[in-house]
Amino acid sequence: MKQLEAISTEALRTLEARLSDEHAALSRKGLHLDLTRGKPGTDQLELSNVLEGILQGDYRAEDGTDVRNYGNLLGIPEARRLGGLLMGIEPELVLAGGNSSLLLMYLYVETAHLFGAAGPGSSWREEAESAGERAQAPERAQAPERAQAPERAQARVKFLCPVPGYDRHFTICESLGIEMIPVPMLETGPDMDKVEACVRSDPLVKGIWCVPKYSNPTGITYSAEVVARFAQLGNIAGPHFRILWDNAYAVHDLASPGDELANIVPLVRKAGTEDSLVILASTSKITYAGGGVAYLATSAANLQVFERRLSAMIVSFDKVNQLRHARLLPDMDALHRQMRRQSELLHPRFEHVLGALERELGGSSLAEWTQPRGGYFISVDVIPGLARETVALAGKSGLELTPAGATYPLGHDPLDQNIRIAPTFASLDEIDRAMEVFVLCVKLAAVRQRLAKGQDAG
Ligand code: PMP
Repeated sequence: MKQLEAISTEALRTLEARLSDEHAALSRKGLHLDLTRGKPGTDQLELSNVLEGILQGDYRAEDGTDVRNYGNLLGIPEARRLGGLLMGIEPELVLAGGNSSLLLMYLYVETAHLFGAAGPGSSWREEAESAGERAQAPERAQAPERAQAPERAQARVKFLCPVPGYDRHFTICESLGIEMIPVPMLETGPDMDKVEACVRSDPLVKGIWCVPKYSNPTGITYSAEVVARFAQLGNIAGPHFRILWDNAYAVHDLASPGDELANIVPLVRKAGTEDSLVILASTSKITYAGGGVAYLATSAANLQVFERRLSAMIVSFDKVNQLRHARLLPDMDALHRQMRRQSELLHPRFEHVLGALERELGGSSLAEWTQPRGGYFISVDVIPGLARETVALAGKSGLELTPAGATYPLGHDPLDQNIRIAPTFASLDEIDRAMEVFVLCVKLAAVRQRLAKGQDAG
């Protein structure tokens, strides 16, 4: 499609009428297409059906544990070893949990916020309360009647949120009352100048969300320099600062070879900041999204505190499933074999989305998009001010997209331009039909905006 600026108003009106007709025709078809959440397709799930029956009645873990029984809150050794492979860390520092790493993230952040990541007296909330009271003290001395009540004097705990990012990370902060500070994502990862400046200037910045490999939704993998700068953050941050290093797509290559992510573990050890690092991963996009094994790895001191806190909630996670996974994926070769089969199914889906974008919008300045080499998403930036409108137009013609703004804290995309596309669950045929609707809506929204601007100017 040509640049809109190069089209006369008359021709734009004709184009708008044609696109509107096409949109109305699509709307009448009663389509039900969905490119919203990053769910594996049924064919991907089927790759792991061998999990069923894999134990063949042998319920003993390698250390003799009967996995059907209570016990081993940190998980069985072979499952922790699989986590260690995924996260690049020793199995002794790995917790193998239930089926959701998101739950572990929530529980970790809640623990640090309300109870203290380093035990009693270290909670972020208490520190914020003390900071609030200190800030109020001079005011109270000067004008006692105007000073706020101590309970209202709380300074807020803050998290840095690279944007666009994963909406459920942001929901964790929102649900705990943690303030979110957006940080732009660059080609190499988060804008580290801004990250360091925020962390240095405010000790109540207590954490940062990261998806360091094949980031959700941009597909960016952090550069070695960015990873090295992350390792130093604990040295310039306030006490009990935590990096939530959510390596959800650690082995999820679409291209071969995939991106290389520098291992942050030796770097934090060298910098003396190992307590600042909390690594998360899961097999949700390796085996079953609803029945995989989730992992958390951190320093020995942190793990001890977190285990104590977990023991108030649960006796042990599902070790039967842990053993099934350890038998299916005993080593890196098995893991890579499984991921190659996943990528054979995913690669064409991504190609179909990217092909439609290139064919219909390439060179048009109506949209820019990422070309991820792995992960689960394609991130599209439309013309500022048009993401909501594009998503709404798509919805009217039967294509459900992730709500515009979802990739920003509190659902607020300041430029209203980012749209996340998740092509994994749909069939190729559905993707083709969905993309036909999508590109049409991008064009229609842009042409209408251009016409409205022309009228304003006139
Ligand atoms: N982290 C990221 C970055 C994700 O994209 C997802 C799933 N979309 C999750 C975590 C959820 O992982 P889990 O199934 O282990 O809770």
